[in-house]
Amino acid sequence: MKAEIIAVGSELLLGQIANTNAQFLSQQLAELGIDVYYHTVVGDNPVRLAQAIEIAQKRSNLLIFTGGLGPTKDDLTKETIAKMLNKKLVIDEEAWCSICDYFAKTKRTMTANNRKQALVLEGAYVLKNEHGMAPGMALTVGEMTYMLLPGPPKEMQPMFLKYGRPFLLQTLDVQEKIESLVLRFFHIGESQLEAEIEDFIDAQTNPTIAPLAADGEVTLRITAKHRVEEEAKKMIRELEKKILTRVGDYFYGYNGDTLFSKTLEKLKEKGKTIAIAESLTGGLFAEQLTAISGASAVVKGGVICYTNEIKENVLGVPKEILQTEGAVSKRCAQLLAENVRKLCRAHIGISFTGVAGPSELEGKPVGTVWIGIATEEETKTFPLTLAGNRDMIRMRTAKYGCYYLLQA
Ligand code: ATP
Ligand code: MG
Repeated sequence: MKAEIIAVGSELLLGQIANTNAQFLSQQLAELGIDVYYHTVVGDNPVRLAQAIEIAQKRSNLLIFTGGLGPTKDDLTKETIAKMLNKKLVIDEEAWCSICDYFAKTKRTMTANNRKQALVLEGAYVLKNEHGMAPGMALTVGEMTYMLLPGPPKEMQPMFLKYGRPFLLQTLDVQEKIESLVLRFFHIGESQLEAEIEDFIDAQTNPTIAPLAADGEVTLRITAKHRVEEEAKKMIRELEKKILTRVGDYFYGYNGDTLFSKTLEKLKEKGKTIAIAESLTGGLFAEQLTAISGASAVVKGGVICYTNEIKENVLGVPKEILQTEGAVSKRCAQLLAENVRKLCRAHIGISFTGVAGPSELEGKPVGTVWIGIATEEETKTFPLTLAGNRDMIRMRTAKYGCYYLLQA
């Protein structure tokens, strides 16, 4: 099954809105294991729309349209498709009733073109619009399947989820079950990860492997299809095992896990509490941890030691160290971690100090970072050299804090 998403709307070509419908639908189809080969965007112009459809029919067999189902003259998607497929447009009584109801309820006056919204392709399966007026529709003609969805995302998304997706599942690969699993990695770049498992990626057919890099992390989505759900799951587990023997050192979680949720989970399991001293990250690490419910069992508190004054007066870093080695130094990170741990009477103390930019500090370049982790037995410090802008450096630093805690 080769899918193509055709977004119709001149506002997309003019750059007034982003094509988030294609993004949403691509994600949905990926989950269903349907390959999307093309995204097409075409204006509200019937000639060019017809040309786009001609091309799409040659290279894809599932065409999903969004936009142009409304009442106005420039909404021409179904009219154009009807003409090309030699199909009539007929009134869908149910859609028509709900349009009439809507006008009665809101006491608005109907215009003649509102009836146009209730028109559907003859023989199509009608996808109800529970958040607007124009219904969607799906039609299979020979090898080709056409699905028409409205433009507004708040109408299109629920319609697809409730009616479009089940239609695809039923009509296409009736028998196949699709399972997928996301593996999450940190401290490895996308290209390095891909290089490590290049042979698996090259050989993929079923299961498929889809890498994605975002927010300084890399994920791999493994998707398997099989008639028996258990078999699909087994295929995924086998591939996961093979992948993790190569890059397991960088693996930290599945699906919706985050570095912060895994850190909290691990500390909770071990019955450990943590105290946090944040200079560079200014509270970001604490914020990320405490955003997760149940954090109070782990997070005792901390100090936002943004200035040297606070580092010295609250967390007891001697002035001479701040003057000679600087706030961004191994020794400072170490003392911040040790002293915040004692101050908060926690099992673990963690500290973040560094240069977020845009300008250098203490003669140290942007991206220079020290993280300290203190326990009763020992204190470890971790130097980092991070790339990116201020936001990225701060967030990556916080994530590295998790990474080192998870490794301990
Ligand atoms: P309506 O009944 O509202 O006219 P429609 O199905 O005719 O719906 P369009 O007129 O093409 O859809 O688009 C209506 C609105 O939906 C656009 O102004 C835009 O805000 C949003 N929209 C349309 N296409 C997309 C898209 N591909 N991605 C995101 N938003 C979109
Ligand atoms: Mg419209």
